[in-house]
Amino acid sequence: MTSLDQFATRRVEAFEEKQQRRVLRPMQPRGVEVLVDGARLVNFASNDYLGLASDARLRTPVDMAGAGAARLVTGNHEAYAPLEAALAAYRNKQAALVFGSGYLANVGVIPALVEKGDLLLMDKLAHASMIDGAQLSGAASKRFRHNDLAHLEALLKEHRAQHRHALIATEHIFSMDGDRAPVEDLAALAKRYDAWLMVDDAHGMGFFEEHPPVDVWLGTLSKALGSYGGYVAGSRALIDYLATSARSFIFTTALPPAVCAAATAALGIMQAEPERAARARGYAQQVAEALGLEQPAAAIVPVVIGGEAEALAESARLRALGLLVTAIRPPTVPAGTARLRLAFSANHTPAQVQQLIDALKPARMRA
Ligand SMILES: *Cc1c(COP(=O)(O)O)cnc(C)c1O
Repeated sequence: MTSLDQFATRRVEAFEEKQQRRVLRPMQPRGVEVLVDGARLVNFASNDYLGLASDARLRTPVDMAGAGAARLVTGNHEAYAPLEAALAAYRNKQAALVFGSGYLANVGVIPALVEKGDLLLMDKLAHASMIDGAQLSGAASKRFRHNDLAHLEALLKEHRAQHRHALIATEHIFSMDGDRAPVEDLAALAKRYDAWLMVDDAHGMGFFEEHPPVDVWLGTLSKALGSYGGYVAGSRALIDYLATSARSFIFTTALPPAVCAAATAALGIMQAEPERAARARGYAQQVAEALGLEQPAAAIVPVVIGGEAEALAESARLRALGLLVTAIRPPTVPAGTARLRLAFSANHTPAQVQQLIDALKPARMRA
């Protein structure tokens, strides 16, 4: 074994000991079900909330598979403008810019907005891609307690004056908790302290009619829209600036046009068929109610278990019952809060949702 292999093996063993090793499992999608090791499981682990990922209307010609280069290099393929216009309109903003993924949008946008000498205030539960963007930015970065406006204001009072620019960054619907940020109040607070507000709406897209006054909306095309890619929406001035400065936009190959066309079609369907989001949210609310859990804001319901081993065991138990439910472990969630993350789709059937409730109820009674 080379020293590199020894190093890698030791690192994996350390994860294994903490029950935090992650492995890739082969699976074949079958609509709202998946085939895993020959078993057919109902998929409660996907972010395909609106059930659009397998929708035939999203299929696009194969000859648009690759973009060839970055958009600033080869020119702007005609697939991007309609998607960006539709995203801007959906967000009630002047313009939008598509990135290779939501992750790339965060690691590009945050460092473009704040740098050394600036202040970045982020929710404690903000997504890993925002944390990575914060580190790349070099800004003085502080975390406020989850959805805690008083704590955020205290940090603004203490630190705002010593910095040139300030950015508040949070998620809209929290990916591992399913609750909603108080976006309207955050916007008011941001205004009062001359700070900018950026909201990552990866998990709320399609679930809300109103769009509160947020300076920067960011999101993904890979969840509700069932496609791939990320985007940011804001003023024309902001988007023009990002297109010429965000490194994860400039120095990477553009999103494949086929993927853009699929996302554009999905956005249209999402807006024309609001009953999809209503159905997914209805299932989430039904399950939360049945299990005595807090009502979800969109289609995610966390069932906090505690330890890693217990969460894995619970996930395995559900799997034996034909249900795919992922155990989410640290560092994705804080230590001691390993959980089952239930995600609902418009394509689930009432019978499948009832099956999940029946499988989970005895476990909740024991807890
Ligand atoms: C999934 C997610 C991302 C990353 O989006 P991708 O398009 O999958 O890279 C970013 N932010 C949040 C909050 C997410 O949940």
